[in-house]
Amino acid sequence: MTGRVSFQTDLFGRHDPEEEKNAGSITVPLTSNKASRDGSVLFTYGASLKKSIRFRSGCFFSRPEAKLPKYMGTPEFAFVRELIAEWVGLASRRKTAASRKKVREVLSRIWNATDRILLNKGVNLASAEYRLPLIKPEGRVYNLNQVFAAVNAEYFDGALKSRITWSSRTGGLSFHTVRRDPLSKEQINIISISRGYDFENCPLYAVSGVVYHECLHIAIPPQVINGRRVVHGKNFRQRERLFTHYQEWIKWHSEILPKNVRVMNRVRKNGEI
Ligand SMILES: [Zn+2]
Repeated sequence: MTGRVSFQTDLFGRHDPEEEKNAGSITVPLTSNKASRDGSVLFTYGASLKKSIRFRSGCFFSRPEAKLPKYMGTPEFAFVRELIAEWVGLASRRKTAASRKKVREVLSRIWNATDRILLNKGVNLASAEYRLPLIKPEGRVYNLNQVFAAVNAEYFDGALKSRITWSSRTGGLSFHTVRRDPLSKEQINIISISRGYDFENCPLYAVSGVVYHECLHIAIPPQVINGRRVVHGKNFRQRERLFTHYQEWIKWHSEILPKNVRVMNRVRKNGEI
């Protein structure tokens, strides 16, 4: 479906800056949540899907169709939907070693972006609706309980209360969530740390850095400012820099962590985990 337009708004009336850039007399596809931007993949939504996507290849007469979780129909997910269209395109083609690798990369981008969007919307990723994480603080290299205790004592006078676990997700995302204990109704903080930090090549300051960052989310809860949920506000960023090895951690996080995550995904795929 295409139209001659000055610029397009999507179904929810929000401007897409990418399309506004392409504005003018050129023909651009209409953005909707019913199909990918180029119209090559159709989208349907299922309320029962939480953390999975399905697709049906197209035949001669029909385009491939992907079924997504219902929450992915909103404007924030436009970018994720494009990635899903890319995934469908790759997954429908004949498989080679290179295309399999690309499929894994695209899938991991899809779920990392999804986690980020849901977290920014304040969705509790640890809630039963998504997935209840098992608490596994003991890793191959680091015991997170020890790291948390040291960070808590050094930077928070031991005042923070949280459970901490290595994350079961394959992406490099670490996050903090709050759950309510079903019995006591008490609030429970859960910090999940990417297993990309549980490597021999990870210095103690790096794993301490990410634990410190997640601890700060407990100390400085998200605020709603002008209707927007601010997670990493100015105050947060200022306090984040008080971490002794801040620069070294950021460097490690951006340079080494992605490599470890790739190794993890490879190992997982070969069935060694
Ligand atoms: Zn954060």
